[in-house]
Amino acid sequence: MEHTCPFCNPSIGDAAFARSRNFLAVYNLAPILPGHSLIIPRKHIESMLELDESMLTEMIDFARKVTRLLQKVFDTEGFNWSIQDREIAGQTIMHLHLHIVLRYPGDLPEPGDWYPKLQENAGQLLDSGARERLTPEEMQKIVSRLRMEKLEEF
Ligand SMILES: [Zn+2]
Repeated sequence: MEHTCPFCNPSIGDAAFARSRNFLAVYNLAPILPGHSLIIPRKHIESMLELDESMLTEMIDFARKVTRLLQKVFDTEGFNWSIQDREIAGQTIMHLHLHIVLRYPGDLPEPGDWYPKLQENAGQLLDSGARERLTPEEMQKIVSRLRMEKLEEF
């Protein structure tokens, strides 16, 4: 399973812009809105329910710090977080990932419209046909910019 998992592929490092002991923050190659990033465990873990208490705390703490970093760089306040856990819930890459979707004034007709957009693209995080992908140059530019930022302590 792990050898075909895109989040276990070493190339995921190219999209990573922050890390904690057990987690990475990666920029989405086909963002639904600017700033759309993912928090993933560095080890292949499928479900949120597999995390012990210290891993869970680390994940949420790290996700908050990354959200703050993204808010600063993309200059906005609102955000949505989402996890699809197990296939029946829409999980297509069986490696736990938390979506961080930044929101902007007037970005979508209705506040809830982000979720169908996320679902359209669920299987195509790294190889999107449905949604426009960033070019390698655009991706590198954004990731390099984000890597310049330090994670803030709360
Ligand atoms: Zn994996």
